[in-house]
Amino acid sequence: MISLENTKIAFENKSNKDLKSMRLLFKLISKNWFVSTTKTILPLALYIHFPIKWIVKPTIFKHFCGGETLESCFKVVEKLSNNKVYSILDYSAESTNSNETINEVTDEIIKTILNAAKNPFIPFAVFKPSALIQNNILEKKSSGQELNETEKVEFEKFTQRINSICNEAYKNKVRLLIDAEYFRFQEIIDIIVTDMMEKYNKEEAYIFNTLQMYRKDRLQFLKYSHNIAILKGYKLGIKFVRGAYMEQERLLAKNNNYPSPIHNTKEETDNDFNLGIEYTINNIKTIETFCGTHNEKSCLLLTNLFSLNKIENNDKRIWFSQLYGMSEHISFNLANEKYNVVKYIPYGPIKKVLPYLIRRAEENTSIKGQTNRELSLIKVEINRRKNKYENR
Ligand SMILES: Cc1cc2nc3c(=O)[nH]c(=O)nc-3n(C[C@H](O)[C@H](O)[C@H](O)COP(=O)(O)OP(=O)(O)OC[C@H]3O[C@@H](n4cnc5c(N)ncnc54)[C@H](O)[C@@H]3O)c2cc1C
Repeated sequence: MISLENTKIAFENKSNKDLKSMRLLFKLISKNWFVSTTKTILPLALYIHFPIKWIVKPTIFKHFCGGETLESCFKVVEKLSNNKVYSILDYSAESTNSNETINEVTDEIIKTILNAAKNPFIPFAVFKPSALIQNNILEKKSSGQELNETEKVEFEKFTQRINSICNEAYKNKVRLLIDAEYFRFQEIIDIIVTDMMEKYNKEEAYIFNTLQMYRKDRLQFLKYSHNIAILKGYKLGIKFVRGAYMEQERLLAKNNNYPSPIHNTKEETDNDFNLGIEYTINNIKTIETFCGTHNEKSCLLLTNLFSLNKIENNDKRIWFSQLYGMSEHISFNLANEKYNVVKYIPYGPIKKVLPYLIRRAEENTSIKGQTNRELSLIKVEINRRKNKYENR
C-alpha cells in the first residue's frame, strides 16, 4: 500500500518561507476564537468599505485561492503541473442571483470551459447550479410546487443555461462537474443532470453528477442512476463527496419538521462513501469516478481497488481530488505514484470569494483532526529540511 506521509514529496513545490506561512495560517485557523472573530469582522469591514485586501490577499486568499481572475491562476496551474497534479478552475464568487450576476457567472463558466480545452492540465470544469437561478424558484420546483408564469419563464432560462454550458463542455471535450448543494434543491438538479448525461455521455462521461454520501439515500440513488444509464445506453459520471452542509441540513429538517436526510453518524457516512466508490470501480466499464475527499482511508481504499481490479494507476476513468491549499500530502504523494490527481482551485474577486474563505477556515476549525494533521506534517517537513541542512 502506498504511503501518504512522505513530506519531501508532499511539499516539494513549497519554499521554506511558504512552509512557515502555512504553519502560521493553519495554527491560526485551528483556533475557534480566531475564526469566529474573522467571521464577524471581515463582512463588517466590507460593509463599511474598510480596506481588507492588503491583509486577506497575501494570507488566507493566497493559500486557498488561485487568483482574482482566470488568467491570474495560470501560474498556480503551471506550478502544480510540474508535479503532474492537474487543476480545475472554479469561479467561486458567491452570486447575488440578480439577472446581471447570473449572466456574468454563466459567461465565466463558459470561459473556464474554453480555457480548459486549451490546457491538458485542466481536464475538468465545474459549476454550482444554484448560482444560475433565484434560489426560491429552485426550491419551489424541487418540492413539486406549481410555479407562476414569471417563475416558469425563469426556470426555462435556467435549464437552457445548463444545457448550453453542458453543450460547450461536450463540444470542447472538457469534463464537467456539477456541484451538489442543499438537499432542498437537489431533486430537480438530479433530474436535469440526468437528462444532460443522457444527452452528452453517449461515448464517454463528460457530465458528472455529485453525490453527497452523508445522505441516507445516495447509495441507492447511485445504483438507480446506474441502471438508468445502462438502460438508456450512456456512461455515468459520478463525483463523490461526503457533503458540506451537515449542520445546516439537520437544523433545517428539525425546524421544518421532516426527517433529517443526513446519516446519524460519521461511520455511516464513511461506510456509504466507501461502498459507493467500490460500486463504481466494480462497474468501471460504465461509470467514471471522481473521488473528492481529504480522507486518507478513503483514498487508500481507492488505491487498493486499483490493484484488486488490475487497473492502471493513470486510468483516466478515475480521479482523486482535493481542494487547493488542503491535504497536499494526499495529492502530491498520489500524483507521485502516477494516479490522476486534480486540485479544485477557487478564484474570483476577493470580496466575492470571502464566504468561501470563511467556510474553509470554519471547516478547518471544525475538522480539528485534519488541521492538526496538516500542521504536524508541515512541522515534520520544516524539521526534515533543517536537519538535512545541519547535517551537511
Ligand atoms: C474536490 C472536492 C469537491 C467538493 N465538492 C463538494 C460539493 O460539490 N458539494 C458538497 O456538499 N461538498 C463538496 N466538497 C466538500 C465535502 O463534501 C466535505 O465537506 C469535505 O471534503 C470533508 O469531507 P472529507 O471526505 O474530505 O473528510 P472527512 O473529514 O473524513 O469527513 C468529514 C465529513 O464527514 C461527514 N460527517 C462528519 N461528521 C458526521 C456525523 N456525525 N454524521 C454524519 N456525517 C458526518 C460530513 O460530510 C463532513 O463534512 C468537496 C470537497 C472536495 C475535496
